[in-house]
Amino acid sequence: MSSSIGERAASMVRKDDQGGFPPQQQDPPGLTATMEPIPDHGEETYVGHGRLEGLKALITGGDSGIGRAVAIAYAREGADVAINYLDAEQSDAEDTASWVRKAGRNAVLVPGDLTERATCDRVIADAVDGLGGLDVLVNNAGFHWDKGPGEGLEGLTDDNIERVVRTNLQAVLWLCRAALPHLASRSSIIITTSIQAYDPSPALLDYAATKAALNNLTVNLAQSLGPKGIRVNAVAPGPIWTPLQPATRETKKIETFGSDTPLGRAGQPGEVAPAYVFLASPSDASYVSGTVLGVTGGQAVF
Ligand code: NAD
Ligand code: MG
Repeated sequence: MSSSIGERAASMVRKDDQGGFPPQQQDPPGLTATMEPIPDHGEETYVGHGRLEGLKALITGGDSGIGRAVAIAYAREGADVAINYLDAEQSDAEDTASWVRKAGRNAVLVPGDLTERATCDRVIADAVDGLGGLDVLVNNAGFHWDKGPGEGLEGLTDDNIERVVRTNLQAVLWLCRAALPHLASRSSIIITTSIQAYDPSPALLDYAATKAALNNLTVNLAQSLGPKGIRVNAVAPGPIWTPLQPATRETKKIETFGSDTPLGRAGQPGEVAPAYVFLASPSDASYVSGTVLGVTGGQAVF
């Protein structure tokens, strides 16, 4: 009998009694195969119960990390899944697709850089074509930069501000707008925000601001789309072990990553996915809209 993902996560990620990870670095966007340890996306543990039977979901950033764990969980709950990712992540995307297909569901690959509005429109159109419709839009792609040249305002380069704001915020507006004509009553939108929306780090000034804006957008969209029967919610993860971390954070921050949470460790992507399943479920979450669900290892989300 395999242990639960929480038990395995706790034993596999602790470098020492303080939590943290072995020193390692990657260039963005980062790939799963070179991480040490490889994140746990629930491959061996997630058991579906038909909660999303017959639904069609698009997950941006679905190749790796939280997005991959959501794709695996959605497929095992009975959903067909389209995933969007960057061209450089083709190998990760194919791995995720193979898990979706192993679950007996349709996997659709929709690569494209979401910092361009035309690409967002095309990604929605291709996902709708490939899936035969759209019931759940998971806006999960995101980017931050925490490798210098410094913290706070002095560390913000124009290129990074542009990339962070376009990826995390502008793309979400473009994707939601393009998806809306395809979403019927009982559909939903889920947005990945962050603990950074509540407890911002000076090193992630721009990123934290986009995540706070996404919380605001979640509440606001829930109001405007509620009359159409479309629910809008968000998940705010705490520190989660994904390629984003070694790709965008300095080594010294990797070595202690997650150790300052009340649970004393980073989470694994597979520990976040059940929140996305709940929020997507038309029966379990039928009256849940405009909420942000924290999965933070104990850090406060208010
Ligand atoms: P990840 O690197 O596995 O996933 C992020 C994905 O974003 C990438 O796989 C990539 O496909 C996608 N992406 C980035 N820029 C893109 C672009 N221009 N066009 C298309 N796709 C793009 O890391 P993750 O941690 O699973 O990140 C998923 C989400 O979770 C992000 O929104 C991130 O901000 C958020 N988040 C992560 C943590 C954490 O500690 N890992 C904590 C809070 C929130
Ligand atoms: Mg990736």
